[in-house]
Amino acid sequence: MLEQFRSKITEKKKIDGALSILQWDLETCTPKKGQEFLSEIVGYLTMKGYEISTSKEFVELLDKLKSNLNSLSPIDKKEVEIISEEIEKMKHIPSNEYQYFSELVVKAQGIWEQAKLSNNYKIYEDKLQEIFDYTLKFAKYNRKNEANLYDVVLNEYEKGMTTEKLDIFFESLKEEIVPLLQKIVAKGNPKRKLNFYNSIENQKKFNRKIGEYLGFDFDRGVVRESEHPFTLNVDKNDVRLTTKYVENTPFSAIFSTIHETGHGIYEQQIGDELKGTILACGGSMGIHESQSRFYENIIGRSKAFWKGIYSEAQNYNPILKEITIDDFYKEINIVEPSLIRTEADELTYSLHIMVRYEIEKELFSGNIKAKDLPKIWNEKMIKYLGIAPKYDSQGVLQDVHWAGGLIGYFPSYALGSAYSVQIYNAMKKDMDIDKVLENGEMDKIKNWLGDKIHKYGRLKETEEIIREITGEGLNPKYYIDYLKKKYSAIYNLDI
Ligand SMILES: [Zn+2]
Repeated sequence: MLEQFRSKITEKKKIDGALSILQWDLETCTPKKGQEFLSEIVGYLTMKGYEISTSKEFVELLDKLKSNLNSLSPIDKKEVEIISEEIEKMKHIPSNEYQYFSELVVKAQGIWEQAKLSNNYKIYEDKLQEIFDYTLKFAKYNRKNEANLYDVVLNEYEKGMTTEKLDIFFESLKEEIVPLLQKIVAKGNPKRKLNFYNSIENQKKFNRKIGEYLGFDFDRGVVRESEHPFTLNVDKNDVRLTTKYVENTPFSAIFSTIHETGHGIYEQQIGDELKGTILACGGSMGIHESQSRFYENIIGRSKAFWKGIYSEAQNYNPILKEITIDDFYKEINIVEPSLIRTEADELTYSLHIMVRYEIEKELFSGNIKAKDLPKIWNEKMIKYLGIAPKYDSQGVLQDVHWAGGLIGYFPSYALGSAYSVQIYNAMKKDMDIDKVLENGEMDKIKNWLGDKIHKYGRLKETEEIIREITGEGLNPKYYIDYLKKKYSAIYNLDI
């Protein structure tokens, strides 16, 4: 029985692998006119994968294994549990509604793109409302005993997450970070020096160095370019990431590369014992993002890290010879309220998420409608960041997520930041991180994360991993303390 189950999983994994390669190809190099046929292949293979996991034979197999859960190994057991949960969810949604929704989000993304390009929210608002209505309806179908309907969608991306926990989290951001930001804005910023010309060729060489330095294994991974950087794994031995080079702002690519390398190292360090199972990839959105943000912000925006690699950085960016490391450190940590989430600094980033979280929550409770969003968006931006966009394309239209049906997804970005600090505090107990960074001993960091987090793949839930490492679950206190301490030192504020 287990053998049959394994062989079905293998079949499904091969299809998923092919789908990943196709997605990679579509986003990095498919010629424009070739996209249509590749998209058809994606549709065909997705259907094949769906057929395997919903086939009578497979469902029966799964039921038998489920009735015998305790005789299974922990790995088999977890796989059976995850797949059963996914099938269970699908069962509650009438297939015609699901089909309609899948087509709706494809259409909506096209309309969203148009709306963003022409700065015309009106042409998009009905579709957005429809997406919210459907998501709400599906959440009702799948509601078990969640206190809040919004919890059902939060759980899609972060198991165990609730509105109650997130309210506490965002409430403390509001109380502590919003006033801190106001003080920083009043202080003003140093003049930027890092926006200098550096050829893409040269940038590529340095970014490759950084990837190697952090411990990304280029025999088992590649880095290419795309409009929006991302990471994808075909297998732990084939991890692919992208970055984006801009000639006059070389540090933009560097921090993208460090971020995606964090995701990539996670995938490369999944335990060998999980090979061939559906557990052989990173866990929840929140924990994945904790790894990329750990590398990007905690490591990549620390002075100790750059001390270890500054002379190398100077070779590829000669202008750094004229910038002291102290000035460099200040500049890579400049705080400035901005309109676009993906360009936000470490301190203001979570405030952008808070705007989205509050809107999702209110849309879910029916208090507001899609047509009200531009106004509400701008009010919240003013309230938390002190600035509002002139155009909706720089405001409510900036992200594709909602058009793609990803509702309840945004909070995981903020959770990633909060977890990354909790992980950092735990790591500090095991090593002198600054010293390790100054000495360039990046393997020590990588191995620690591999041992405590990466090797488990999806075998353990995020909550379980965080508890094992830190002794408690999500606690916003550490994240807020970290931000306050770091930025009040940089901006000479006494708090
Ligand atoms: Zn990321």
